[in-house]
Amino acid sequence: MAHSLNASAERLRARQHSGILCEQGARTKALTRLDEAVQRAETELLDALRRDFRKPRFESYSTEIAFIRNEIRQTQRNLKRWMRPRRVATPLFLQPASSRVEYEPWGAVLIIAPWNYPFQLALAPVISALAAGNTVLLKPSELAPHTATVIESMVAAAFPDGEVETAVGGTEVAQELLRQQWDHIFFTGSTRVGKLVYKAAAEHLTPVVLELGGKSPCVVAADAELKTTARRVVWGKCVNAGQTCIAPDYLLVDNQIKDALCAALAAEITRAYGPAPLESDDFASIISDDHFRRLEGFLREGTREGHIFSGGRCDPATRRVEPTILRDISPQSPIMQEEIFGPILPVLGFDHIGEAEAIIARNPNPLALYYFSRDRKAASRFLKRVPSGGAAINDTVMQVGNAALPFGGRGSSGVGLYHGRWGFETFSHKKGVFSQSLLLDPPLRYAPYSARQLSIIRKVLG
Ligand code: NAD
Repeated sequence: MAHSLNASAERLRARQHSGILCEQGARTKALTRLDEAVQRAETELLDALRRDFRKPRFESYSTEIAFIRNEIRQTQRNLKRWMRPRRVATPLFLQPASSRVEYEPWGAVLIIAPWNYPFQLALAPVISALAAGNTVLLKPSELAPHTATVIESMVAAAFPDGEVETAVGGTEVAQELLRQQWDHIFFTGSTRVGKLVYKAAAEHLTPVVLELGGKSPCVVAADAELKTTARRVVWGKCVNAGQTCIAPDYLLVDNQIKDALCAALAAEITRAYGPAPLESDDFASIISDDHFRRLEGFLREGTREGHIFSGGRCDPATRRVEPTILRDISPQSPIMQEEIFGPILPVLGFDHIGEAEAIIARNPNPLALYYFSRDRKAASRFLKRVPSGGAAINDTVMQVGNAALPFGGRGSSGVGLYHGRWGFETFSHKKGVFSQSLLLDPPLRYAPYSARQLSIIRKVLG
């Protein structure tokens, strides 16, 4: 295994240096081949996602396949403009030179993907990496093995060796890959493993992007529109059975509307998933027994402490967890100490917005921050006071659908950005190029230095 992985890394670097993805046309064609492979594999992919965690067909299509095809289209439409060197100003004392920023591919890049959107989160960074002219080694997650197999055969059919390759496997494969020298590493996954990736990258001083997780708070002000808020929060929490890095992790609600909002949330869950959500076809399963047991522990604790407002059941045979509202949770309770990553929603009340901010500050720099209110100014003020990777006002999760917005965390929720132009920039080295004219060569900077030269410099540069 180690031998074949080594060979891949070398071939990828050699292929990149050979200039196969140098021209815009070659990059656009590579993306077209990927798009065609996605279309050909659509049925297989939908089936694989269902087998991996019973992901509903609508969610598989919209959040995985359509998302990727849209990202390809956006990239192809804009690539020529993105690749164009950007002219920047040149100060008077450097004239008659000109200056520009050129976008240079890093080279051979390693992409390590998680299981929760196993297709989207593997392929979206590949699109940006190819657009920027890199060759790619992609390691899909072993926890979604059927999807990983489809990705492997799709990539093999769409790309010649050395352009995009896959390495399917678990931790050992990832560790072996990280021992090698890459020109860039893009990792999506947990904060714990993200730190290991950062350390491994430091060994070779390799630039990295870390797309990590954490607890994304959702604040609901007293003037929020209750029904729409409940609808958007329940959808954001239940899509993919809560296994979404930017799902609202917990709710902070003004005490004036807490009871009414809890009732509206429970009603929305029943409307969307019926009286028996564990049997709904529109609701995914939890990915593994380990994750299921972790969530089951939260439900047991919620039952023991009397916090369950609605839901609370689960089924180990299908690894399903009912959408559950937990009321009157304390910031000290276990469920408030780690990312939930499942359809369980703790609700905490506040009398003053400062209390909500203090609770968020216990897990600072969330990946996403949500604020529901009719007062846009209050929302903007709140977002200015609370740092986060990204944010949405009066919605959850949908911000990811706009490729013009940068996507990424800060602090413990990640380092670096992607999607659209931001992804192209991430996978490019920005090379500053200064081009001097040969027409003039003022002697001012050259030795031997005179007092007059110094006084001119003082006047010009201060
Ligand atoms: P994970 O960290 O367990 O695994 C991610 C990848 O790392 C997998 O491919 C895995 O094989 C590999 N890996 C595991 N152990 C490793 C090791 N010791 N060294 C190197 N690689 C190793 O994460 P996960 O469980 O697949 O995903 C869930 C987490 O990812 C959640 O925390 C979630 O918030 C986060 N996430 C973040 C984003 C984002 O865009 N910011 C998106 C999705 C998920």
